[in-house]
Amino acid sequence: MKNQQFVVIGLGRFGSSLALELMDLGYEVLGVDRNEEVVDEMSNFLTYAVVADATDEDMLRSLGIRNFDCGIVAIGDDIQMSILAAILLKEMGIRQVVAKAISVLHGRALEKLGVDRVIFPERDMGIRVAHQLVTPNLLDY
Ligand code: ATP
Repeated sequence: MKNQQFVVIGLGRFGSSLALELMDLGYEVLGVDRNEEVVDEMSNFLTYAVVADATDEDMLRSLGIRNFDCGIVAIGDDIQMSILAAILLKEMGIRQVVAKAISVLHGRALEKLGVDRVIFPERDMGIRVAHQLVTPNLLDY
């Protein structure tokens, strides 16, 4: 196991794929989702998987979230939840907070909160695929 620890909040398509890839790369991953079914599905594949609401501050503290090296807010659709979760992760002092945005304005709000890296999955994937299409020998990145 590599010693960097990640917490992924929201195990939808983006969050689960990110969490599984980090596991494959040899890192420890705590997955958090408020949907019990989602957590049950993922629990065999992650280091830990917990049913919790990302805005439940006491719960996040009890999970020792502040000790993680990187927190990823992978909630998109519910902008309010995404923003509240990002604020809590920042306040808890996680060194690097990454969050997914679904719109430019959502991204700007996350940046204003001090989120270290904002990701726009669809936009970023579009750019990546365009590069791969015109540069066939480009290594996957
Ligand atoms: P994706 O495209 O990655 O599937 P999405 O944007 O379609 O994501 P979202 O509504 O963002 O879907 O939800 C992603 C995951 O986050 C879901 O599994 C959902 O249960 C979880 N989630 C949403 N809000 C919270 C919350 N407040 N606390 C914990 N988990 C949450």
